Amino acid sequence: MQYFSTNRRSPEVGFREAVLRGQPDDRGLYFPASIPRLSADFVERMHDGTDADIAFDVIRPYVGGCMPDERLQEICAETVNFQFPLVQISDRIYALELFHGPTLAFKDVGARFMSRCLQYFSAERGRKTIVIVATSGDTGGAVAHGFHNVDGVEVVILYPKGRVSRVQELQLTTLGGNVTTLELRGSFDDCQAIAKQALTDASLAERAFLTSANSINVARWLPQQFYYFFALKQWEGKPPVVSVPSGNFGNLASGVLATISGLPIDHFIAACNANDVVPEFLGTGNYRPRPSVSTLSNAMDVGDPSNFVRILEMFGRDNAQLKSKMSAVSISDERTAETIREVHRNYGYVLDPHGAVAFAALEDHLDRHPDEKGIILETAHPVKFDSVAGILGTELEVPASVAEFYDRQKSVTEIDPDYSVVREIILEKAR
Ligand SMILES: *Cc1c(COP(=O)(O)O)cnc(C)c1O
Repeated sequence: MQYFSTNRRSPEVGFREAVLRGQPDDRGLYFPASIPRLSADFVERMHDGTDADIAFDVIRPYVGGCMPDERLQEICAETVNFQFPLVQISDRIYALELFHGPTLAFKDVGARFMSRCLQYFSAERGRKTIVIVATSGDTGGAVAHGFHNVDGVEVVILYPKGRVSRVQELQLTTLGGNVTTLELRGSFDDCQAIAKQALTDASLAERAFLTSANSINVARWLPQQFYYFFALKQWEGKPPVVSVPSGNFGNLASGVLATISGLPIDHFIAACNANDVVPEFLGTGNYRPRPSVSTLSNAMDVGDPSNFVRILEMFGRDNAQLKSKMSAVSISDERTAETIREVHRNYGYVLDPHGAVAFAALEDHLDRHPDEKGIILETAHPVKFDSVAGILGTELEVPASVAEFYDRQKSVTEIDPDYSVVREIILEKAR
């Protein structure tokens, strides 16, 4: 498989090159030159396959001949070695729970897949790879765990002191080994600025191979298709509507990609919080990126969603076609909190704020379409967000996998937002 840049100035590259580079020089995004078509009986046969088999069949055409099938099979098995249950919440709404992985959020899948690809490609080159990530919470945890104990890779994580939730902080700071966590006395923007400076530092690049585990990397983006296949594997009846809590639009873009391959999904809802650039675009045709505002569903606080261009690409930049397959709505924090309370009261199910945005958006859609049924992607476990207990007025039950974190040794270095300190740490890791 070749990948072209959505800006069309950088040359096409293979999967290996696309993973190692992350982003083309022309600042576009890599996009597959042709989208594979599933065989007619793929969905039928899927019911007999394991999740690892399905993942392998879906991703194999995208990886091309960049690694032996046996290695790719192993990577797929390690990537999806936890549950993805489809749980009924109400008469017509189901949740695909994507939070049974090590950091209780859906980003685990992409991070695990990417880390193992990077391990394979950096062993091939015989050079240590250093991954640097700035995080406001969810991404860093998933990346740190995805790369933990992966040979040939060192991870440096930057997070803003006092701005991540309790569980997120535990997930970021208790790994040790090849994961170095830096707690910055500053904001998320400071963290991001320092990561960017490191990634563009030419003299540093001579001494260390540095990469970001950014969500636009094809090795994080493409495996997200698996969720939609796992949902349909557990679904009976006519094709569902799927409501996806969206921030950078990587998850939703991978779902659309799966349907172009032939997976039967009737309609997508891009469920957004107050950061409504895409809902506004579908309404007016104007794409107006702007600074993000903070909300309860903070992993979706994005003012210029980087993966949206991949969705435009799939519809040939034809907005009428796009709108026939996908709608987009913005849900307020008040409605999000009310949805968490109502779903808990009526169905005994605890949503996290991101899943609640998707639930509210789907509920509104189903009110207007009485013969349809739908699925929300529940992208994180509610215990990750300190707000949920407050909204429900009760402490949440802590899953065993989280309780275990409380006993682990915390290891973190607190630093000022000073690039030279981070640079020294990176150089030490590169040795
Ligand atoms: C990252 C994230 C999202 C948004 O996903 P995108 O692919 O960026 O649209 C939604 N929910 C949670 C919990 C997340 O961590």
